Amino acid sequence: MKGFGMLALNKAGWIEKEKPICGALDAIVHPTVLAPCSSDTHVLHGGSGEKENLILGHEAVGKVVEVDSLVNKFKVGDTVVVPCVTPNWLAEGVQGEYNAHDEGFMGSFKFLNSKDGTFADYFHVNHADANLVLLPEGVSPEAAVMTVDMMSTGFHGVENANVEFGDTVVVIGIGPVGLMAVAGAKLKGAGRIIAVGTRPNCIAVAKEYGATDIISYKDGDIVQQIMELTKGGADSVIIAGGNQDSFRQAIEMTKAGGYISNVNFFDIQEVLSMPALSWGLGMANKTIRGGFCPGGALRIQKMLDVVKYGRVDTTKLITHRFNGIEKIEDAFYLMDEKPKDLIKPVIFID
Ligand SMILES: [Zn+2]
Repeated sequence: MKGFGMLALNKAGWIEKEKPICGALDAIVHPTVLAPCSSDTHVLHGGSGEKENLILGHEAVGKVVEVDSLVNKFKVGDTVVVPCVTPNWLAEGVQGEYNAHDEGFMGSFKFLNSKDGTFADYFHVNHADANLVLLPEGVSPEAAVMTVDMMSTGFHGVENANVEFGDTVVVIGIGPVGLMAVAGAKLKGAGRIIAVGTRPNCIAVAKEYGATDIISYKDGDIVQQIMELTKGGADSVIIAGGNQDSFRQAIEMTKAGGYISNVNFFDIQEVLSMPALSWGLGMANKTIRGGFCPGGALRIQKMLDVVKYGRVDTTKLITHRFNGIEKIEDAFYLMDEKPKDLIKPVIFID
């Protein structure tokens, strides 16, 4: 079979490989809708160390082509939504509050990390019964593919921000994950939602998802702008983009007793630090959390219900649509180059 991925560091292309083997409890899936993600380009550029000959991709809806005899819930031909995080449900790490770290830090993120991804004729899913979801009636495949990482990650940012009714919430970065954080904060009952971003198409979608104010770093220091707007700081700040400086800014713009929630990938060489005063000399009762989105069937079933029952329209994220497996390449390079009109591309495959 063929797949699109990382030939070597900073070198992408098509790769010929054997079709993956379906192990006990597992399934093999042929993708019908795929979405490239900045995590794919991040890996290509060495964000998680040197890799080679690795098929990329981790956001997919597809058709089951093979299941192990121990799989009960799925059969060949089923259309399934595939969580980007597929834990080994027998590992100790999933038995606590967070299932993303089954056999060590982010171990449940199998695609890209420990095996080939979804940008191929076929890909492997471990523990199919616990990690796959049937595409629900009334949810389009393209709406569904936006839940497996974008919504799950954006909403995890909101979960870790402890948003309560009427809270003032800041979202730093309004790419697709930040936009989902805006939508999630609204669902959780936030009062004021301040989005930090500059791209006009993202700003328009942020407003549709519930942003009440938009702040741009182009208009000056964002901490100063938010301190003035809120007269003293936000209840919580979600970091969904930016760099090491965003971490300091988030702490500075959060009220005493507030929450700072990170879902942004920082680069390996970055150092996260903050002036002691921004943390009230260590006495400000500010909670700092950073998390990787949970996965598995139950999580994504819940995300899909948010779509199915009309709470959030995830298709607002999709700006570019491609047809045919060979178009993975174009969609991937688009994600790598991030032109101004891009939020999220999808590829439809027969
Ligand atoms: Zn992703």
